Amino acid sequence: MRSEFLPFSTPTIEDAEINEVVDSLKSGWITTGPKVKRFEDEFKAYVGAPFAVPLSSATAGLHLVLLALGIKEGDEIITTPMTFASTVSIPVLCGAKPVLVDIEPGTLNIDATRIREKITPRTKAIIPVHFAGQSCDMDPIFALAKEFGLTVIEDAAHAAGTEYKGTRIGTLDSISIFSFHPNKNMTTGEGGMVCTPDETVAEEVSLLKFHGMSREAWKRFAASGTPNYDIVMPGFKYNMMDIQAAIGIHQLPKLDRFIDRRKEIAEFYNREFADVAELALPAYAPYAQRHAWHLYTPLVRVEMLSIDRDGFMAELKKENIGTGLHYKAVHHHAWYREHLPQAAGSLPNADYASDRILSLPLFPKMSDNDAADVVTAVKSVIARTRK
Ligand SMILES: *Cc1c(COP(=O)(O)O)cnc(C)c1O
Repeated sequence: MRSEFLPFSTPTIEDAEINEVVDSLKSGWITTGPKVKRFEDEFKAYVGAPFAVPLSSATAGLHLVLLALGIKEGDEIITTPMTFASTVSIPVLCGAKPVLVDIEPGTLNIDATRIREKITPRTKAIIPVHFAGQSCDMDPIFALAKEFGLTVIEDAAHAAGTEYKGTRIGTLDSISIFSFHPNKNMTTGEGGMVCTPDETVAEEVSLLKFHGMSREAWKRFAASGTPNYDIVMPGFKYNMMDIQAAIGIHQLPKLDRFIDRRKEIAEFYNREFADVAELALPAYAPYAQRHAWHLYTPLVRVEMLSIDRDGFMAELKKENIGTGLHYKAVHHHAWYREHLPQAAGSLPNADYASDRILSLPLFPKMSDNDAADVVTAVKSVIARTRK
């Protein structure tokens, strides 16, 4: 057994990030400033988006995007149950009703063929989530959006660097929202980015993110700015700080290398687990895409074992292997069981995955030995709990 605990994820922070943060701290300019502007420009160029707005988190981005689109009481928003809570909680907090569509059993992405049946006259938007960094099938989603006049908002929290049929997520004709939480493929500590070709949406999100002050308001204490400012509308406090952007500008150039290493480890797991009947491995989508391998999420076939998924995670912990849970399906959480009772029993693929899924360690700093330890531990837990 490993002598040291292996966490499921940990960010790769090197001297460049640390020195840049120290530079910000010493410069006297800590909050939104020139480094945020530089990070915005460089991220925008990387994904190929015409407009980008840096924010304090992806959750903040989702909130402002829904407000910018005028989402209100009674509107319906279609999304997936296999996501982090904020994808669904933010529509609820805006007064909208989340409408959950079942997932594909292999990729765990929203099943695009099942969306049409959930569209009503109240539907305003579709939020596909690129699960684990693998692109949803966007062509049929865009076709439906066009047919019914809906907005597509991509939850791209897992998808920095993901590509769909040769196009990078962030470039498509939609609004995409990235997260830079420490577990994500690149980090700014906390942080998020809204990318879109729609200048009106970008402008509105930009105003709402900082008290409704006009776009260049951060300069009001700088030599090039003026201390006066105007409030164009009531706004929030969702701006990204230079301290955060300082990390991001050194993470971004490493993103492709991070993804390559993640892929190497994921494919090692795929090979090592290929013959393990007790695991259902993540499937590649049938269309051309670049998987960013944010997560490695096999399903444990618990019916073949004497323990359930939580028991499996506990056994791995005894072997000093950390795991994550991405995700317990949204409609299995207490609030949604009470307020979205119609979801119960109607999403069989999500129900199946929700009770069996776990995230194995996957991060660029992992060594080959670490990955081999994970395989050994998983196989040993299966061997001793097999029915
Ligand atoms: C992490 C995550 C979010 C939220 O991102 P934050 O930056 O933490 O607000 C939203 N959706 C999904 C799918 C995520 O994984």
